[in-house]
Amino acid sequence: MAKYFDVIVVGAGPAGSLAGLKLARAGLNVCLLERGSHPGAKNMFGGLLHNTPALNELIPSFWEKAPLERHVYKKVLAFMTPDTAVSLSFENENFDRPPYNGYTVLRPAFDNWLAGEAVKEGALLLCDCTVIEPVMKDGAVVGVTVKGREGELRANIVIAADGVLSFLAEKAGLRGDFVPGTLGVGVKLLLGLPEATINERFHLVRDQGADISFLGIPAGIRGGSFLYTNRESLSVGMVMYLDSLQKSGRAPHEIFDDLLQHPQVKKLVKGAVPLEYSAHLVPEGGYKAVPTVYTNGMMVVGDAAGLCYTNGINLEGINLAMTSGVLAAETAINAIEAGDYSARMLALYKKKLNESFVIKDMKKFSKSVGMMHVDRLYDTYPQLLAGIMEKIYKVDGTPRTGLFGLARKEAMKEVGLKDLVADSIRIGRALL
Ligand SMILES: Cc1cc2nc3c(=O)[nH]c(=O)nc-3n(C[C@H](O)[C@H](O)[C@H](O)COP(=O)(O)OP(=O)(O)OC[C@H]3O[C@@H](n4cnc5c(N)ncnc54)[C@H](O)[C@@H]3O)c2cc1C
Repeated sequence: MAKYFDVIVVGAGPAGSLAGLKLARAGLNVCLLERGSHPGAKNMFGGLLHNTPALNELIPSFWEKAPLERHVYKKVLAFMTPDTAVSLSFENENFDRPPYNGYTVLRPAFDNWLAGEAVKEGALLLCDCTVIEPVMKDGAVVGVTVKGREGELRANIVIAADGVLSFLAEKAGLRGDFVPGTLGVGVKLLLGLPEATINERFHLVRDQGADISFLGIPAGIRGGSFLYTNRESLSVGMVMYLDSLQKSGRAPHEIFDDLLQHPQVKKLVKGAVPLEYSAHLVPEGGYKAVPTVYTNGMMVVGDAAGLCYTNGINLEGINLAMTSGVLAAETAINAIEAGDYSARMLALYKKKLNESFVIKDMKKFSKSVGMMHVDRLYDTYPQLLAGIMEKIYKVDGTPRTGLFGLARKEAMKEVGLKDLVADSIRIGRALL
């Protein structure tokens, strides 16, 4: 016999749990289904939880309660070649006081905590429970079938928060097959290192943390690498476009070794002990890859709705996921009050998304997707920058060229006028 709920939320990641919390607090009968043995058990990401007003609104001063690692005080963007690094370091005293700008987190602890907050508000959390497909009736989603606790669960509304591959969105006919080049694969190594060593090595005090992005590694593959400081560990990893990785013919672990063996990275991770290796997909198709996000009886949130983007400097996903979860929950609360679960009613969710920073930012950086496919960004430009820096600093008794002349000469030699102009326009359009 089927069990009935007001809302079933599939997936206890950041999007699903915050949606569950909002719905339960409104007094609705909510069931949160998670395939892992506990929320976060199967989840990984790079490491940066961005400051998210939607989270702070539901759990005021969440940074005092959540299992966070460090607040991010220092941002570094490093352009790498196999033997050089040109780094831009940004330290901001405003990022060093509440409300902080972002935090490093470890997902098993953070996701478990957030789902626990939803449970405290009255949500029913069922783990080891994999949703197989939506139950359809008269063209509407009216529930889900589950493996683990075999059977069918029914609800007025289903919220699909089941992550990047969302089988629910696919089976409800909201998205088609993925196009190569719209997905990234992320690999990450968690490395244990004593707190005092981390503070000394990265010039940090108290709970300050560092977020380092490396451009130019992996060499010849579209993607980037990262290092985040946790309290007693480092999250080191890379995200590569799947099509580019496939074309390289190399295995992710081999490419990962290149990162760990880079002289600049090697000294940052020296003496660290491997604790855990993980991999996960990232939606990187940008605004154009966002599927239809609602249908009769169902809304799609977070990565399941492709709500994640990178503009080459920031990778934002978790804040978009949580915000979309809350907007879907608000829509569900209205729909249940009205007793109308039709697509016409749930279209309010799309309207709310469009008016929020989520879609506004995804639209703003929609051209970044094209920019991220410029191969020269990953090898030629870091090489060019490194070459210019070397010539600026190198003293060898030969006459010097002025800075502008040097940059122009090197750029013409390495890239050529036509590509340089085309790339400048593409990068300008993507970021401005
Ligand atoms: C390598 C990497 C680095 C990243 N770095 C960052 C970063 O630093 N900052 C940032 O903001 N974003 C980052 N992201 C993106 C970010 O992780 C995602 O945008 C975010 O996790 C999306 O949250 P979500 O709740 O929508 O989905 P998820 O976090 O994927 O959660 C989905 C949940 O659904 C569950 N689930 C899936 N299928 C089923 C099913 N059939 N039945 C039941 N449960 C199911 C899963 O177990 C999981 O708990 C990164 C991603 C990767 C892969």
